[in-house]
Amino acid sequence: MKDIFEQKVLCSNCDRVMSRIEIVKNGFAVRALQCTKCGQKIIHPADMQEYNNFMSLKNKVFKVKMRIVGNSYAVSIPKEIVNFMREQDRIMDNMVRLCFNEAKKLSLMFGEADGEENKKIGKEMDKEAE
Ligand SMILES: [Zn+2]
Repeated sequence: MKDIFEQKVLCSNCDRVMSRIEIVKNGFAVRALQCTKCGQKIIHPADMQEYNNFMSLKNKVFKVKMRIVGNSYAVSIPKEIVNFMREQDRIMDNMVRLCFNEAKKLSLMFGEADGEENKKIGKEMDKEAE
């Protein structure tokens, strides 16, 4: 079945062909069509569904236990988050990046970061390998 976004879609107000754009909402990118004349936007229905899934997971607080594994502590990442990341292809392998960025907060980053951040991480990983 062909994707509706591969077709020429006319704006219902102006009868003009709408152009493909990408909108980033809350750090989540969705495909959309936009009329260059009146600015009307149509979000890709599949992406809209994914975005809604994302919004229901976003900022949800999970209580997870810390376990001692060797010299480290391990926490479990809830399956619904991992499944969501897998669907988004943000998990390439089983590596995630972890950053202690606030006094009471740890961040986990899935997938590729862009630009400067990536370089820094690269350096840290190089150090580890030495
Ligand atoms: Zn229009």
